[in-house]
Amino acid sequence: MKRILSLFFILGIFVALKAEHIAVRIYTTANITLLNTSFDLGSYNLYANDTLLIDSLIGTGHSVEFKAIEGQVNLSVDGHNYGRYNKARLQAIDSACILCLNPANGKQRTYEGSMDIRSKNGRLLLINDVDFETYLAGVAQSEIYGHESDIYRVQAVISRTWAMRNINKHAAEGFNFCDDVHCQAYHNRCIRPEIMLGTLASTGETIVDASGNLIETPFHANSGGQTSNSEDVWKNAVPYLRSVPDTFSLSMKQAHWSKKIKADKWLNYFAKNHGINTKDKNLRDSLLHFQQPQRRADILGVRLVRVRMDFGLRSTFFNVTFDSVRNEITLNGHGYGHGVGLSQEGTINMVRQGISYDSIIRHYYTGAYIKNDRSIEEEVRTENLTRHIETIIEEDRQKTTQKKSKQDDWLGRLFRILDREEREEVYDEKKQDLEDDWKYEW
Ligand SMILES: [Zn+2]
Repeated sequence: MKRILSLFFILGIFVALKAEHIAVRIYTTANITLLNTSFDLGSYNLYANDTLLIDSLIGTGHSVEFKAIEGQVNLSVDGHNYGRYNKARLQAIDSACILCLNPANGKQRTYEGSMDIRSKNGRLLLINDVDFETYLAGVAQSEIYGHESDIYRVQAVISRTWAMRNINKHAAEGFNFCDDVHCQAYHNRCIRPEIMLGTLASTGETIVDASGNLIETPFHANSGGQTSNSEDVWKNAVPYLRSVPDTFSLSMKQAHWSKKIKADKWLNYFAKNHGINTKDKNLRDSLLHFQQPQRRADILGVRLVRVRMDFGLRSTFFNVTFDSVRNEITLNGHGYGHGVGLSQEGTINMVRQGISYDSIIRHYYTGAYIKNDRSIEEEVRTENLTRHIETIIEEDRQKTTQKKSKQDDWLGRLFRILDREEREEVYDEKKQDLEDDWKYEW
């Protein structure tokens, strides 16, 4: 019996690698008033005001419609109206459950786990109650690109560290995180096995400073060749957020940008907004021919972060050239984002060059290191799942030309593999019981 119980545990592995659930507000920035929900995998119970309304909604044949009306949620199931309630919940009752959400005025998305629905300020407040690791895989998918699983391993450990530090960010509103950049982007469940593979590989890992405390893990798209000191962008100097050379970002998509601005507009900005005497030839030349061989924090005492914001620039890392004929300047810029901490495109390039996952983290977060809290049980489970996911990736590779059906979803396939294993194990156990009985009787 003990073995069967442990198998149930293995089955719920995705949901239980850390056995922690979190609540994430989804469609945070969308104005959703009407939402149609169907079921891609597993079965769900529908609750209205904490009371079970319908049990075991299963399969794609069913749909539930939620509509925000006067501070309440109106429920319709398969076209039948069940009236208004203060809140509703779709409770996942299988270990693998996938919801397909179709808002009337937003993009379709799919999520794993359960969902709480309320009405607030005339629109639906949607909260995904999801396993922490599943959430991290979804974040990794939304935040970074690439095919190599180590790219996602880096992103997942950063996201896990951030999430553990900021777990109560939206506690006052009744959830942990929103799905917008304010917290971490989470715009779908993880639909690619290599992303889950990278996330799994990072299970139990966080980034800590020299004293063993979780670090803040800011990241940006591309450093432009050199990262920024934290105090040059924000207020405080943080020991692990130091400016470092980063040639890995240079050959990537977002390495360069340029912007033309009328010279008068540029000079007037510094004169009017920052009191610089632009009639002074030296000061005027400094503004029209500003150079940053190395990243700087200011231009004539004006913080570059301020200039970046006011002109909507991709980064603060730029040089200025002046065309006196056109009376125009060109900002030739490097990188994209604030430049503090990890460069995502630098990371992608480093992974492709075979640089190890922990070296990448140590390159961008000075003096920090990866701490592994994975238990032996987690280690075994992670290895087991990794093996199955690798099999699925290999199968996909072999049949890339064949069109995959919806039922061919890798997560569904994974759970079918685990189900099959469970049946085999149960069979083994029954056989063992019979043998034990036989020994006992004789
Ligand atoms: Zn947020």
